[in-house]
Amino acid sequence: MGVRLCGFIALTIFSMTSMDFSARLRYTLRVAKLFSYFRYCLLPHHIIPGVIELDSALLIARGIRGVMLDLDNTLAPWHSQELFPGVEEWVAELYAAGLRACVVTNARTTDRVRPVALRLGIPWVTSAYKPLTRGFRRAMELMGTLPETTAMVGDLISLDVFGGNRLGVFTVLVQPKVVWDEDLPTRLLLRPLDRCIRGLCRHRKPSSR
Ligand SMILES: [Mg+2]
Repeated sequence: MGVRLCGFIALTIFSMTSMDFSARLRYTLRVAKLFSYFRYCLLPHHIIPGVIELDSALLIARGIRGVMLDLDNTLAPWHSQELFPGVEEWVAELYAAGLRACVVTNARTTDRVRPVALRLGIPWVTSAYKPLTRGFRRAMELMGTLPETTAMVGDLISLDVFGGNRLGVFTVLVQPKVVWDEDLPTRLLLRPLDRCIRGLCRHRKPSSR
């Protein structure tokens, strides 16, 4: 979130409350800390056009050993079992470079997830309830990695990036390929929320991970 916006909000709270000076100062600092935490959680470490642009050498250089992969609009079009072009080869390259991978999706059934994961030769976690961290933890168990050696790749800030950052993994945001046929909650709620966050949070310092 922009420094100017944070400053404006803090100043507004500071000037509007009727508490004494020290209480106002404490309250304002708490609000600033909260904004700072959300800013940390909402910014991806890396942004790329598509998952196949993610370089395994970059991941290895950052100490990453396992990659959690969102399914819809990251590996495959929404509600489809067909992978985006190049994904199969890209996952094979990851494995050849010594990395592991796991599909982590909020889909509740294995109908679509299983065939995709089997084609890629990687494990999967369904009903992950992203941005909660339970599904991410299960995926790390399957890959035998820790948060500091794991990356999360997905197309939604509010689910994939927010959840991954809360756990302390390396987060990578990809551009969603096909958004017109997504379900209503995603189209009407999550995508506008993502656009809003992108507008407010433009930069993360490279040194933050
Ligand atoms: Mg997705």
